[in-house]
Amino acid sequence: MAQYFADIYETVSSVLKGMQITIKHIYRKPVTLQYPDERQVMPERYRGFVHNDMTKCDSCNICAKLCPVDCIYIEAEGKAKERMMTRYAIDYNKCIWCSLCTENCHTGSITMSHDYDHSVYDRKTLVYEFMDPADGLIPCHRATRVDMGWWVEEKKEKPKPKPPVEEKPAAEAAPAPEATPEAAPEAASETAPEVAPETDKPSDDKGAE
Ligand code: SF4
Ligand code: SF4
Repeated sequence: MAQYFADIYETVSSVLKGMQITIKHIYRKPVTLQYPDERQVMPERYRGFVHNDMTKCDSCNICAKLCPVDCIYIEAEGKAKERMMTRYAIDYNKCIWCSLCTENCHTGSITMSHDYDHSVYDRKTLVYEFMDPADGLIPCHRATRVDMGWWVEEKKEKPKPKPPVEEKPAAEAAPAPEATPEAAPEAASETAPEVAPETDKPSDDKGAE
């Protein structure tokens, strides 16, 4: 019998606890987003899918060489001024969002976006092609990029070399420190031999006179 009433008490109290929480949230502002119509605003430093601005990329290969999982594919043809990029792709299946590519890109073309949703049915579609060779190839050489009107990185002025420093003789280079009035008597007492004051002792010259 006691167990019967204990069960009733347990049930009623747990329902009341649940209702208490429900009532507390009834008048609060909803936090649910109506995804995909509404998207969450991510923090500034959030690392989403890697994005490359192909107008700035010059196919230097730094990002591909640094990528620890080798998920950046860059292909180019030709040499020197004739060199053209034919493919730039990233396999998001492999990317670990380490940001090594973005931190070392010298043109700042590759960045971590705030894009967090690339839901797909087929994993093969997560290999993103950033350029289509049918639309034209991208010049890699700086001079060709300038000629064709592509974005080029501003040239940084090299710092001027400093003039050589002339070596001075040791005495000139390190002059003896000036003795302070307080320190002078002390220093003198340490270095100079003790002599009796001249006034106490008649000089030989005076005696001769
Ligand atoms: S974020 Fe890291 S893993 Fe992803 S493409 Fe860049 S270097 Fe590769
Ligand atoms: S490091 Fe930057 S400029 Fe060089 S290939 Fe990668 S994205 Fe392009």
